[in-house]
Amino acid sequence: MMPSYDTLWVNARLATMTPGGAPYGAIEDGALAARDGAIAWLGPRAELPQAEQTLAARIVDAGGRWITPGLIDPHTHVVFGGDRIADFTRRVAGESYVDAAQGGSGIAFTVAQTRAADEATLFAAAAARVRTMIASGTTTLEVKSGYGLDVETELRLLRVGRRLGDVLGITVRTTYLGAHTIPAEYADRRSAYVDLVCTTMIPRVARERLADAVDVFCETIAFTPAESARILAAARVNELAVKVHADQIADSGGAALAAAHAALSADHLEHTGPGGVAALATAGTVAVLLPGAYHYLRETVAPPLDLLRAQRVPFALATDCNPGTSPVCTLPTALNLACVYWGVTPEEALTGVTRNAARALGLGDRGELRVGARCDLALWDVAQPAELCYWLGAHRCAGVVVAGRELDPYRSAG
Ligand SMILES: [Zn+2]
Repeated sequence: MMPSYDTLWVNARLATMTPGGAPYGAIEDGALAARDGAIAWLGPRAELPQAEQTLAARIVDAGGRWITPGLIDPHTHVVFGGDRIADFTRRVAGESYVDAAQGGSGIAFTVAQTRAADEATLFAAAAARVRTMIASGTTTLEVKSGYGLDVETELRLLRVGRRLGDVLGITVRTTYLGAHTIPAEYADRRSAYVDLVCTTMIPRVARERLADAVDVFCETIAFTPAESARILAAARVNELAVKVHADQIADSGGAALAAAHAALSADHLEHTGPGGVAALATAGTVAVLLPGAYHYLRETVAPPLDLLRAQRVPFALATDCNPGTSPVCTLPTALNLACVYWGVTPEEALTGVTRNAARALGLGDRGELRVGARCDLALWDVAQPAELCYWLGAHRCAGVVVAGRELDPYRSAG
């Protein structure tokens, strides 16, 4: 008889992340089978329908390890030129992020470095970071542009994002963030830059299918709510999903703006008030929280977790991997920081990098271990799922599986 499945993992403990049952949707002594890249069966090993050897072409003994859905990082700026180590050194000596942004370093410094870098250089630097991410369990990643701020460099960043997925073998969702900051050459012509974003860059990005979504940095030091609204409207006209960097530095109405444009996510939210949270709840917009930036900037105002819970707004966590404010590559680091700083529970945290992170990217085929979902897995040397949040800087990931196949991030082409 032909085996029913391509691969069968046995002797596994499954954190399915399916809600409504055991914590983490856990199945002890479980088994999971893949066929054609999707999960075809999962449950207690004792309930497998027939002898294991007859079921699958290949059987993998997971050695009692925990298996979670492959982790999903829904907010990164992982493609950039140069580094910000000089900024870091000044900041640890006491300079603030706002001072840095206004003093000509900050994002503007990275923009200059990025414009000067060719595509191969940008790709090599980003690929090294993404390999680190994969080795710590990430199998789906969002990548933003936003360090080019001119047509050619923004397109180059998005092409690098697409290529990271193709070469490294994971899913990359790209987001156009031309509205990251006003570039220096437009300092006295803000509306001309917003015009460029809305009438040139967004249509071009849409036409060349280089981005899955459009993001805007709606903030006191970046774009006003009115400017942001124009940009989000242009994105919707071009049939791109939208998301917003909202309320990181002040409650500037970013969350409400995201909700009004039916955004997939509103990100940061440290200063979002009750009205903004209520708007997210009504719109079904996911809150994406970024503990790496909170940590690096030594912030003291935490995102409104009690309001998010009370209003049942799903929240995700991300690395926000970027050179200036969150040089964080691995999601287990974000899990730990969110738990320690904000009192996120380990189960909420893990939900935030699986089920809720999938929703933040508009991906309905992953984020849970269930029949029919994509077979993206992460295997862990931990005694229980909460241990994924416990260590800081430990490496507990024993491997990842993408669409049913083991992926070695350091051996893939490129
Ligand atoms: Zn960001």
